Amino acid sequence: MLGAGIVGVSAAIAARQRGLAVVLVDRREPGSETSYGNTGVLSSGSILPLNKPSLWSALPAYVTNRHAALRWDPAWAIRNVDWLVRFLANATPSRTKPRATALHGLIGASLKLHREWIVKANAAQRIRETGWLKAWRSDAVVAAKEELAFLAEYGIASRLLDRQAISALEPNIVPVYRVGLLHTQTASVDSPGAVVKAYARMFAGAGGEIRRSDVRAITPDGDGWRVMLVDGAISARHVVVALGPWSADLLRPLGYRVPLAFERGYHREFKPNPARSLQRPIHDAEGSFLMTPMEQGIRVTSGVELTARDAPSSFAQLDQVVPLARGVVEFGDAVGEPWRGARPTLPDSLPMIGPAPRHPGLWLAFGNQHIGFTTGPATGAAIAAMIGGAQPSFDAAPFAPSRYL
Ligand SMILES: Cc1cc2nc3c(=O)[nH]c(=O)nc-3n(C[C@H](O)[C@H](O)[C@H](O)COP(=O)(O)OP(=O)(O)OC[C@H]3O[C@@H](n4cnc5c(N)ncnc54)[C@H](O)[C@@H]3O)c2cc1C
Repeated sequence: MLGAGIVGVSAAIAARQRGLAVVLVDRREPGSETSYGNTGVLSSGSILPLNKPSLWSALPAYVTNRHAALRWDPAWAIRNVDWLVRFLANATPSRTKPRATALHGLIGASLKLHREWIVKANAAQRIRETGWLKAWRSDAVVAAKEELAFLAEYGIASRLLDRQAISALEPNIVPVYRVGLLHTQTASVDSPGAVVKAYARMFAGAGGEIRRSDVRAITPDGDGWRVMLVDGAISARHVVVALGPWSADLLRPLGYRVPLAFERGYHREFKPNPARSLQRPIHDAEGSFLMTPMEQGIRVTSGVELTARDAPSSFAQLDQVVPLARGVVEFGDAVGEPWRGARPTLPDSLPMIGPAPRHPGLWLAFGNQHIGFTTGPATGAAIAAMIGGAQPSFDAAPFAPSRYL
């Protein structure tokens, strides 16, 4: 199992549960990269990817490259015009509904596993069943009602709130929001990295092996695979690539050109005023940021930056939204430095979950974009089921790697 983010750790747990001998390899501690720095929302309602029909009407606002929701690097855009065209081509009504249905199945299966595993991993104190609040400063009742109705079609519950109802729910925030939509079946955690570490301990407790090393290459070897590490090698019948934003690198020498792009994002944490904190994550719809109470403080997370995975950081979006967050909830100085991560995204915003088309025993599990912390468990469990010759608990056909490879 290559990669100990939420996806790799989940695949490792599920494979162990099926009785397989599993080595989980990562160059860092489990849950130290993208699965560490996210907003920790276990989102029941994020079934619409970014490339949905409404993206078209938002595009003019993004052209000038000043919007907090989306920044893009023109040089990157020119180099990756093919990815951009494919990404935008998916933002039509006929291509969005099937993807929403697919993500709904994946999310439902995953939330079930999260709620089960977090208890088994002795980390239940980290999950909060307080929902997720999307809030508008303008009178966006029509937009909120449309979203409520859309979610209801999938059986996803949400509640429309006015200013008073928002204040009743979040008594410590300044009443800047006129309209709110509470996703009632959504949960959140107070440290996604700690949850992944707890899951990894559960895997080790069940007899799994965790190896800290850098993976350099994977090569077919007889009936199985040889995983070349910086300090040795592992032979295995099956290899699962769950390296998040690094997944495509290892697959290129095998002839797979994975169209993976990076929706980078940032967070910064601030000392909370314990007497005036938040109860749940809040998505400021017009400010294009999220803020959520974490173990270390209030975490403010930014929108999307489309650029190369390893390009230098730009804190422009964070600089734009932190003052807005400060205008909603009281918090003190920053705790530590800003963090940067890369949401791994394929042109249809669906992850790859399944076998590599031309290499038996090679399994792909990555590309979980904005909702990988939510969808990691079922992504991993589906791979373990497929390795064992069983059916995943949701329809995994839309996630087949063969759609791109
Ligand atoms: C700002 C931001 C906010 C987000 N908020 C949310 C949210 O609220 N809810 C949600 O569901 N999702 C959220 N996401 C998305 C989510 O964080 C990701 O989709 C998810 O964490 C991806 O998990 P992963 O296991 O695929 O990747 P990672 O967590 O990145 O794991 C990949 C692992 O591979 C290891 N690795 C890579 N290369 C090698 C190598 N050569 N050798 C050894 N090890 C290697 C890395 O060390 C890493 O541990 C957010 C993302 C961002 C950036």
